[in-house]
Amino acid sequence: MVGYLRKLPSGSISTLVRSFLPKWTPHGSPGKWVEVTLRGEPIWMVRRVAFDRFISQKAQEQGATLYDRTPVRGIEFKGDRWQVATPRGVFEGKYAIAADGSKGPMADWLGFRDRKRVLGGAIEVEPRLPVAQTNIAHFEFGLVNSGYVWNFPKADGYSLGSGVFRKTQKKAQNLKTPLVNYSDGFEVNINTYRCQGHPLFLWNGTQTLHTQNAVLAGEAACVVDPFTAEGIRPSIFTGLKASEAIDGALAGDLDALERYTQVVNEEWGADMAWAKRLAEAFYRFPLVAYKFGVKLPRSCDRMVQILCGEARYADVAERALKKISLGLV
Ligand SMILES: Cc1cc2nc3c(=O)[nH]c(=O)nc-3n(C[C@H](O)[C@H](O)[C@H](O)COP(=O)(O)OP(=O)(O)OC[C@H]3O[C@@H](n4cnc5c(N)ncnc54)[C@H](O)[C@@H]3O)c2cc1C
Repeated sequence: MVGYLRKLPSGSISTLVRSFLPKWTPHGSPGKWVEVTLRGEPIWMVRRVAFDRFISQKAQEQGATLYDRTPVRGIEFKGDRWQVATPRGVFEGKYAIAADGSKGPMADWLGFRDRKRVLGGAIEVEPRLPVAQTNIAHFEFGLVNSGYVWNFPKADGYSLGSGVFRKTQKKAQNLKTPLVNYSDGFEVNINTYRCQGHPLFLWNGTQTLHTQNAVLAGEAACVVDPFTAEGIRPSIFTGLKASEAIDGALAGDLDALERYTQVVNEEWGADMAWAKRLAEAFYRFPLVAYKFGVKLPRSCDRMVQILCGEARYADVAERALKKISLGLV
């Protein structure tokens, strides 16, 4: 499944991560860093502005037309095609891919009013600063419930953020205070940078992703990994599968859109069922999971293999769940 990403030239990557520094800070006391050096593939870090620009340029080279700053205001199915209303006028197409993320209106307009998802959330700042070690990613598991705080390096700065991936309390969790405190440790005052926040639509079960001449792709299809909150790779995957399905439909394959739903549920969703089980145990007993999993080199290596598409949760989750339950005894 990862082959399509290998084709991306290295120019689209900001830096490569070769070590993890996970940490657990119990109740504000200074936690201990544990450096885990990755033995296999490095993790790719991208600057979203540059990476998204790169992808849209590639699409345009293939013949796509990009209308920037053109919000879609409404859609209507007329005759045998969709009409898409924008401030630049109405565009028509036989098929539509709804890929407008967690904040977009398309899924609602297409009639997907009750999508299966776990609603998470994350905030992030991206200061441009000199970075001492551009190959180390930091994680802190003790500061937010059911989530983590991170500091990911980029060639020219950091991405500092905090996210929550399971709802555990009625009131929304304060993500800003842990992020401010954590960033202080890197001598970054995040209050001087623009903080962006977004809902996260985490995978929560098999569901239909196609309708009349249209499909949902990316986060609109609720494909974000419920364990790590990784959303870029499954969004690209579903985007590619959606384009193949529409290509098939245009060539006369009557089952192409239905098969898209099936392929996403089988090739991504089946493994996300394991990711969800793991997330439920991990974020319920994070200290146990940290001690018996996160800080061990082998566990980190396996996690990286999953993020690279070289291993599946199905291969590792049972063992990891067993370790967490043994740690509880
Ligand atoms: C703070 C934070 C940090 C994250 N970090 C990571 C990470 O490190 N790694 C990772 O893999 N994932 C990460 N994710 C998740 C990842 O960003 C998303 O899952 C992924 O970007 C989803 O891709 P997408 O193309 O479906 O949607 P998006 O990237 O959200 O793109 C949707 C696009 O649709 C546009 N749009 C919306 N409505 C309209 C409209 N009406 N008309 C026209 N255009 C519209 C939006 O402007 C946007 O450009 C993070 C998420 C958050 C919130």
